[in-house]
Order: sequence, then C-alpha cells, then structure tokens
Amino acid sequence: STEADADADGAATLRTPIVAVLGHVDHGKTTLLDKIRGSAVSEGEAGAITQHIGATAVPLSTISEMAGELVDPTDFDLPGLLYIDTPGHHSFSTLRSRGGALADIAVLVVDVNDGFQPQTEEAVDILKRTQTPFIVAANKVDTVPGWNPNEGLPIQESMEQQSERVQGDLNERLYGIIGELSDHDFAADMYWRVQNFQNNVGVVPVSAMTGEGVPDLLTVLMGLSQRYMKDEMQIDVEGPGAGTVLEVKEAQGFGTTVDAVLYDGTIREDDEIVVGGLEAPITTEVRALLQPKPLEEIRTEKAFEKVPEVSAAAGVKIAAPDLDDAMAGAPIRVVRDRDRGQVIADVEQELAEIEVTTEGQ
Ligand code: GDP
Repeated sequence: STEADADADGAATLRTPIVAVLGHVDHGKTTLLDKIRGSAVSEGEAGAITQHIGATAVPLSTISEMAGELVDPTDFDLPGLLYIDTPGHHSFSTLRSRGGALADIAVLVVDVNDGFQPQTEEAVDILKRTQTPFIVAANKVDTVPGWNPNEGLPIQESMEQQSERVQGDLNERLYGIIGELSDHDFAADMYWRVQNFQNNVGVVPVSAMTGEGVPDLLTVLMGLSQRYMKDEMQIDVEGPGAGTVLEVKEAQGFGTTVDAVLYDGTIREDDEIVVGGLEAPITTEVRALLQPKPLEEIRTEKAFEKVPEVSAAAGVKIAAPDLDDAMAGAPIRVVRDRDRGQVIADVEQELAEIEVTTEGQ
C-alpha cells in the first residue's frame, strides 16, 4: 500500500487512533477493557495485544479476528486501536494534545438499567466541549430479565435469539438512552441504523460480561476512525515525538518518571525532551524508555523492560533526571533537530492554553 511505501521512506504513516473509555462509576468501563483484552487471549491472539504503560494496543488483525464476519480487514489501513487504560473523565478532561483532546475517539459506557447518571452527564458535557467523536456502549444487556447469553456473539444475532418480551424490554431501555442523548443535543440511534457517524451517535448494545456486542463495538470504532479520522492519523513517524503526561510517579531504580501517551513521532533513549512543569518547562534527557513486561514475567522479576525507542501512538514510561515538577496533563516534546528555545516556547504556550490540574500528585 502507499502507506507502507511511505513508511519505508521514513515519511508519513498512519498511526493508531487513541480511544478513551468514559462513563459513570460501576457502569462497566474496567470490565469492558478487560473483556477486550480477554477475548483476544481466547482467540489465540494474546501475543498480538500489547500492554503499554497506561494503554492497551489492539491491532487490526485482532479486531478482525474478534469481529469475525463484521469486519473485512482489507477495508482498513489504520493499524488498530490504542485504548487509554486510565478510565475516569477527570483525567480525560485534563488530557489534551495540541489544543484538542488526547483521545481521538471515545466510548461512553452507560448501564442499560441505570441510564444516564451524574458522571454520564459530566462525560457527555466534556465530549461535547472537546468535540470528541464518540459512540455509546449500552452495557449489561445480559441483565435484562430472561436474557439468554450468547458468549461473544455480534449483538444483532444475539438479540434475534431472545424472546419477544426480552427484546421489547431491552429496546425500551435503549430508546431511553437514545432519548437522554437527544436531551443533550446528540441525535443518536442504534449503530446499525446510523448512516453518518459525524451527525449521529451510534448506540452499541453490549455485555462486557458475556462479550455480546463487543465485536460490534470494535468494528464501529475501527470504521469510524477509518472513515472520519484518517487525515488526522497521518503522522511523520520518524519525526521528533510529541505526547501528553498521564501520570508522574516513582519507579524503583529510576526515581521520578512520567507515564506518557505519545501521539506523534518517535522518542528515543538519550533524546533531549521538554516537559511541562509546575514552575516552568523542564528540559532534560531521556535516560530510559520503559514498557511493561508480559504478565507472567512480572511475577518473578522487575515489572519493566527498557526499549531503545517508541513510536506513536503508544504509552511509555520515561525515566529522566529532574522530573519531580512534571505535571499530569502537561505536554512532552522531543527536541532532536529542532530549536530548543522554540520547543520550550511551544510547551509554555500549550500549558497556558490548557487547565492543567495537579490533582492527585
Ligand atoms: P467501572 O467502575 O465503570 O469500571 O465498572 P466495573 O467494570 O468495575 O463494573 C462494575 C460492576 O458491574 C462489576 O461488578 C462488574 O462485574 C459488573 N459488570 C460490568 N459489566 C457488566 C455486564 O455487562 N454485565 C453484568 N452482568 N455485569 C457487569
């Protein structure tokens, strides 16, 4: 493909869209992320899913494996999806990238029994304010009384196999959610009826517990990204990295480190970087780039392994001197062949534009 050729030349390539999962507490954000990871494991695709710092990468091959007939992988040239693991909309609203939201796309999880709750309202307001495209995962469909679970099945197939009473019950709840979205000025419909996802929010009935509808969710996210976000995903992957700090924390043997999500370019060991700080931007040099080790190894030894470089989109732990004053939500930039003064000015300007909270530090 043209993308692959461009990549070989070190020019433009398509990066993974960054996905955030939002919603009211207990509506199933964590379970949904676990299910996506777990289903991949049971599909024999465990090796393909990679655990990043603060994120999980799900490649296109895995998505098409899980989605079965719903996805024709040749329809896509985006490499997959990167899920930010830190759920919670407080972090979401502080996680920005060059003026926009760090997440390119979001999943709003709503419990079909509870409907909209205070944190759902807050999340919708944030999505509106940041103009982040989103879909709704109408979760816990398996709790509708009389529901007959069909592990991992696409949702329409599973719905067809339910009794008429169960179908009616679920539809009533789903239309309740669609009504609540409409109250917030979002035209919404069942995802299979949505023609244009730029004008309409797609509602995907799912069970994070049984995996029903999870193939649909992945398919819709992938399709939405491919259709409407391809231009934004075009990056110079060899260029100096740009990212956002998720968390500032101690790591044994490395002192204060930052966990960051890289959304552009590459960061390498020994790169000079500028990170937004409490008082002023911090200029420092990367001592180590760390990724989590596979789960089975973490039990016996250190949790991280060093990697020489990381390319967007990815989560990474960065060890460097002088990071004590770094802030969650702050920008992080690789200097490399650019003018250091200009990079510092860019970081300062970006800090001035965003409300960075120091909450939790
Ligand atoms: P979070 O606070 O949004 O991350 O919610 P959790 O993922 O921790 O889920 C809250 C509770 O709901 C847990 O007890 C889950 O097991 C349960 N839960 C989540 N999704 C489902 C679902 O699809 N079906 C059922 N029956 N329970 C679910």
